[in-house]
Amino acid sequence: MSAPVEELDRPTERKKLAEALDNALSSIEDLPTRIAAIENSIDGRILFSTSLGIEDQVLLHAIAKARSRIEAFTLDTGRHFPETYDILSRSERVFGTRIRVVFPDAGDVEDLVARDGIFGFRYSVDQRKACCNARKVLPLQRALENAAGWVTGVRREQSTTRGETPFAAFDGQQNLIKINPIADWTLERVEAYVAEHNVPVNALHAHGFPSIGCQPCTRAIEPGEDIRAGRWWWEDENRKECGLHNRPGGSRNL
Ligand code: SF4
Repeated sequence: MSAPVEELDRPTERKKLAEALDNALSSIEDLPTRIAAIENSIDGRILFSTSLGIEDQVLLHAIAKARSRIEAFTLDTGRHFPETYDILSRSERVFGTRIRVVFPDAGDVEDLVARDGIFGFRYSVDQRKACCNARKVLPLQRALENAAGWVTGVRREQSTTRGETPFAAFDGQQNLIKINPIADWTLERVEAYVAEHNVPVNALHAHGFPSIGCQPCTRAIEPGEDIRAGRWWWEDENRKECGLHNRPGGSRNL
């Protein structure tokens, strides 16, 4: 049976909307106006996936300050640092909000660990990606079901794989508009915002962790190293993504 006409039209409409929003955001300088433009452009649910890193704390602050309808959620992979849970709880208190915590499917994780072992992700890129898939990618897809917009804190400067991140693009896999409101920000600008607005951040940032993921897959970096050098440091630089922001059919491929 063929899909209703309105369902067939929706991806085309969202693609056009994404292009218009990308143009609009590129001509807006300040973050509150960018947040307002996102809300005004997209009907339906807009979700913000936060890793609780410094960029996402900036967005969480801006969204809370604007009393925005954008809903925050985070993925609990089960392998986070204690400091990440601390900043989750503290952020909820400081910003007066609840951040939805999305967990992996228990059966998926049990099957993964039964097959590969508790540290299976160390042994091959494929096993690492299988772990990221079960603990991050599948829960993310579930969290984003029925969303019209997806906001992230991805910045172009973060790595070679993120250098061409647009402000907004259609995500064909999830059939939504993915928005990166601070894609053009430098780390200095992020840090200046945090200082100016007294935004709480993960305590690990002060100990050489600019990018914080799962505890077994994240290390501190040395001065001068790439920002994401501490993530999956045993792998090839150009393959180091977990699948959240470089999915087939996702914004990077359109
Ligand atoms: S970052 Fe490491 S522990 Fe976390 S989901 Fe990916 S492979 Fe698994």
